[in-house]
Amino acid sequence: QLRQVVQIMEWRLTEKELAVRLHAADITLQGDSNLLYQVWMNLLSNAVKYTQAGGSISISAEVSDHSCVISFADNGEGIPEDQLPMIFDRFYKVDRARTRDSNSTGLGLSIVRKIIEVHGGTIEAESHLGKGTTFTVTLPLL
Ligand code: ATP
Ligand code: MG
Repeated sequence: QLRQVVQIMEWRLTEKELAVRLHAADITLQGDSNLLYQVWMNLLSNAVKYTQAGGSISISAEVSDHSCVISFADNGEGIPEDQLPMIFDRFYKVDRARTRDSNSTGLGLSIVRKIIEVHGGTIEAESHLGKGTTFTVTLPLL
């Protein structure tokens, strides 16, 4: 499924000259595949949107402790530490001016978090301004 998401995004990735590495074990996730598909699509779109041309994105999925841990790491612009707690809020955007006239609603991550919660999982963000951002999703494997 992650592989499919990367394939679908391929044209945007090549257009922006982003390198993507995918390290994923073949894990079958329990849950609504359409909803989980939206999660991966949102996280990868964000990584693409907020990473400058020539950057790189690394996606990994592994099993640990009856859970599946999936992470999306980019070396893009990053998020200021004081705004990190707000990015999962509805309509929250870090830079309003920058995202005003692009098609950005600030809803993506709030939907992502809801979907992960419905599946009994968690999502965390770690970011360093100017260095990059990593989103880590943990989903229980039943
Ligand atoms: P939408 O997803 O609805 O098109 P959006 O991308 O602005 O709009 P979210 O996906 O909810 O909204 O993200 C909220 C904000 O968090 C973004 O506006 C952006 O400022 C910041 N953000 C999200 N992902 C990243 C990332 N990978 N790197 C840097 N900033 C990010
Ligand atoms: Mg988004």
